[in-house]
Amino acid sequence: MRKRTPLIVGNWKMNKTRAQTLDYLNKFVKGVSGIASREIGVAPPFTSLVTASDALKGSNVKLCAQNVHWDESGQYTGEISPSMLKDYNVEYAIIGHSERRKFFGETNDSVNKRVKGALKSGLKVILCVGETKEERESGKTQNVVKSHLIGGLDGIGVQDLLKSIVIAYEPVWAIGTGLNATVEQAVEVHQFIRTTLDSIYGAGTSDKIRILYGGSVKPENIDGFMATADIDGALVGGASLEAESFTRIVDFKEV
Ligand code: PEP
Repeated sequence: MRKRTPLIVGNWKMNKTRAQTLDYLNKFVKGVSGIASREIGVAPPFTSLVTASDALKGSNVKLCAQNVHWDESGQYTGEISPSMLKDYNVEYAIIGHSERRKFFGETNDSVNKRVKGALKSGLKVILCVGETKEERESGKTQNVVKSHLIGGLDGIGVQDLLKSIVIAYEPVWAIGTGLNATVEQAVEVHQFIRTTLDSIYGAGTSDKIRILYGGSVKPENIDGFMATADIDGALVGGASLEAESFTRIVDFKEV
């Protein structure tokens, strides 16, 4: 018996036009319509949110965004505000993805501002944390993950944490490489995340927090990840781009 409802989210990154979005969602929504007791989400690029929002109406698939700004409006060229996302019934915003940190200069500080802005508007957050290959090889995994957690969650109270935040452990070396973490590696860091959350928010808090694994999740390895008590779901990039493969991931088998 699982302690927490699994959450599986597809991060499409910079992929799919409106027509491709519609074509995908027509298939995907049908494919997952019978799946209960699991939360399912897709995070299309901003340009597909309108199309996706319409296509997902009445379905069991939630609309997610790949990022969100902290302010409601203003002089922030290229950014999208929380209320703009709420306007399309976006439920979750992914914040602190390693590609944002690596290519677009996101820091723990900007991540934290985005988390606070999202919460203020009633958006839920998928907060990404994870180490690079060099950091893992030099024994810094725990330090990096801890700093992403402490930095990203600075000033966030326990009520908001429990109500609106999901953590995604995404080792950077496993993202888009085809080289997933082993189940043991993922579980070790998930347990470290739980210990860290308990030390910040009080013993037992992490029992109520969902922690996803992300990094080359595919139909072939999802069942193994989901067989462990500490992994509550997945954030999926490449393998979420085909409706059929993402349907199989969402429809993971309990082993
Ligand atoms: C991601 O971008 O969050 C991700 C996990 O990508 P991939 O599944 O392609 O490794």
